[in-house]
Amino acid sequence: MPELPEVEVVRRGLERWVAGRTVAGVEVLHPRAVRRHPAGGADFAARLAGHRFEPARRRGKYLWLPLADTGTSVLGHLGMSGQLLVQPEDAPVEKHLRIRIRFDDTAGTELRFVDQRTFGGLSLHDTAPDSVDGLPDVIGHIARDPLDPAFDDGAFQAALRLRRTTIKRALLDQSLISGVGNIYADEALWRAKLHYDRPTATLTRPRSAELLGHVRDVMNAALAAGGTSFDSLYVNVNGESGYFDRSLDAYGREDEPCRRCGTPMRRRAWMNRSSYFCPRCQRPPRV
Ligand SMILES: [Zn+2]
Repeated sequence: MPELPEVEVVRRGLERWVAGRTVAGVEVLHPRAVRRHPAGGADFAARLAGHRFEPARRRGKYLWLPLADTGTSVLGHLGMSGQLLVQPEDAPVEKHLRIRIRFDDTAGTELRFVDQRTFGGLSLHDTAPDSVDGLPDVIGHIARDPLDPAFDDGAFQAALRLRRTTIKRALLDQSLISGVGNIYADEALWRAKLHYDRPTATLTRPRSAELLGHVRDVMNAALAAGGTSFDSLYVNVNGESGYFDRSLDAYGREDEPCRRCGTPMRRRAWMNRSSYFCPRCQRPPRV
């Protein structure tokens, strides 16, 4: 699954290459890619035609393209393998091309949604009525992410103190804080020397502030590492987050030495996923 930094790289690419362009026509090549648009592919195509894309927006891992003057947005779901590509109109068709969006200008490029496993797709939604940020209604409940200038640190820290939950669960709770996936949660917890099962109520305010700082550092480092991939005529996310793998300190490092103390890292099954941690730097909470 792509995480926030990967999705942000795609958003920037879309902002650069697609914003301000008016849709000439849409071809839906696989019905599964529009299954979240219940009225179907023909309706999806008809409602985009003739409308102009505003700059792409993001909240957490959700990405959308507002259609100017319509009160609607195209929401992109990248799923496991979805890619949004800006390609020359005459570029060979990708094997798993699902949706093609052409524009009415002379830029010579089009937007393609390519998805091998077709867990992702595009759908059209109304803007949530009370949203100051123009959120599509279906994601109106998603909290701000920690890179959002309007993220409220104090409210997040207060919520941690009040909730009867554990820290990694809280980091992955999209109604508290969005955009932190399994990989970056493990990385931030390793940097903060916190065990994933630590009850949030035991975190002091300075400790939770420090953790939030590490979450932001990890995400910003990933963004900086991915910053070159949108500098060409190519908007891409493949869900592998490959460009950041080399600099991971915790995730995927089972049995490898902790980069801080040398103790072999451990992996534990956790909510149908894995948690990676250093048993010495990140002591389990006392039961
Ligand atoms: Zn260690």
